[in-house]
Amino acid sequence: MSPKRTMLTFLIGAICGGAMALLVLGEGSVPLIASGLALLSAGIALALARLLTIRARDTNAAQLQAEMAVEIRHRARTDTVTGLANREGFEVAIGQWFDDGEQDGTFLFWLDLHRFTEVNDTLGHQIGDKVLHEMAERLRKRAPYDAILARFGSDEFLVGVRLAGKNEAEALAGAISADLATPMRISGHRIESGAAIGIAELGDKTSSLEDLMQQADLALFHAKSGARHHICFFNKAMSRNLVRRKEIEAELRAAIQKDELSIYFQPIIELESGKIRAFEALVRWFHPEKGELIPEEFIPVAEETGLIITLGNWITRQAARTCATWPDHINLAVNLSPVQIRAPGAALGILEALKEAKLDPSRLELEVTENLFIEGTSDTARFMDELAGEGVRFALDDFGTGYSSLHYINRYPFRTIKVDRSFVSGPNNGRRSDAIIRAVAEMGATLGLEIVAEGLETAEQVANVRRAGCTLGQGYFFSRAVPDHLAAKLLVEEEAGDSAKRRAS
Ligand code: C2E
Ligand code: MG
Ligand code: MG
Repeated sequence: MSPKRTMLTFLIGAICGGAMALLVLGEGSVPLIASGLALLSAGIALALARLLTIRARDTNAAQLQAEMAVEIRHRARTDTVTGLANREGFEVAIGQWFDDGEQDGTFLFWLDLHRFTEVNDTLGHQIGDKVLHEMAERLRKRAPYDAILARFGSDEFLVGVRLAGKNEAEALAGAISADLATPMRISGHRIESGAAIGIAELGDKTSSLEDLMQQADLALFHAKSGARHHICFFNKAMSRNLVRRKEIEAELRAAIQKDELSIYFQPIIELESGKIRAFEALVRWFHPEKGELIPEEFIPVAEETGLIITLGNWITRQAARTCATWPDHINLAVNLSPVQIRAPGAALGILEALKEAKLDPSRLELEVTENLFIEGTSDTARFMDELAGEGVRFALDDFGTGYSSLHYINRYPFRTIKVDRSFVSGPNNGRRSDAIIRAVAEMGATLGLEIVAEGLETAEQVANVRRAGCTLGQGYFFSRAVPDHLAAKLLVEEEAGDSAKRRAS
């Protein structure tokens, strides 16, 4: 029986009992009624006490329920591995800034860790989780106290932060980048990672959180794909590029079918003798309406969509066939994208192209950039070792634009380093870049590597890099990339010049 009902029963019982006693027994019943009333008060007290306990219990339960709801909501918005917010938590927290009208000066940093998949795959998830936890700690330490930190997906982090301006954002991104790139030791393993960072700023045109996130994501995409920068601010051209990329993708698929692509060859010259040592194969796209499209516009699209695998195989096959028509001492250099290397059967595809063209593997040099080592190294090592075992050579392309880590040169079977043209003919070259070229050339000489200076446009630059110790050179000074029949002509002319010299001597 409920306490209310118990009390009521006592009350009604007592009144009825009292009234009946008075009626039946008259005044002599007063002591009896008094004891009845005492009994009644005791009953009421008991019922009241029960009522109060239950009320208290109810209040506790309600409080507990409310606390649990808060805890459940907190858990639903928290990433269990790092303790940072998850996507939902991030959106709620930053949405609050917007709701409160405190969003001015908001910057959004979108980070993607380098090589995380590789750590997870090779060292296991437990270590992977520890890496994420450590990265989160570093972010916590670096970010301002009121920043909103979150982890998205497997290895992406978001930082929502209010800053005084772009300079401050740049400084913070630089500091975060350096913090995350510092090697860590976890369970006895030395792990080197780092992150690409895309940044968007809330501006007049960015009205919503959704826009801001889209812009940061786009900026991250650029930060990841650019060989040269790992921190990238959003700019409006990026959205235009996105539309353009979609167009290019569709057209590129058709272009491969319609044979609108060609391979051009640019000579690589031995600086000592001035003779052609090799040709680098460079793809060209002649669009029927848009004219010539440069590789830097369509290669990234091909990489992103996986089209590069088909395209790359075609380039290697065609270029190998052309090289087979040149004298035996003239080699071929072909650029390879990381995506191509990671495709199943990549090494086999290249060996088959060589076999089909009847070209000795030692005449092929594959050019790769340091980007290749950012995402994963186990497949890369296997690929390179397999081909190097067959005699194929490797060149590290655009050296000086990425991490320029000497570790890669030491670890992988490189035979050549190509110093990026920004050191040779770029706007910032000068004494510092001369010193860098000299240092790289010296290292090349010690390790028995060939050093190619890219982008030579003037006789003075040629003399400079030669003096600095580069063994090979490439650039407009010698020749632009030319179609195969003109490459053949260059070889014939060189041969004719040689025989003329031989006759004269
Ligand atoms: P890269 O491999 O570093 O190629 C050298 C680029 O520098 C070529 O641009 C070449 O035309 C250009 N170049 C050569 N000499 C000079 C010079 O004296 N001055 C200046 N300013 N530029 C010079 P291109 O052909 O536009 O290729 C750009 C990049 O696109 C290449 O850089 C390479 O990373 C990529 N690429 C080109 N063809 C292929 C290909 O067949 N496959 C892949 N995966 N990537 C390719
Ligand atoms: Mg190259
Ligand atoms: Mg290059």
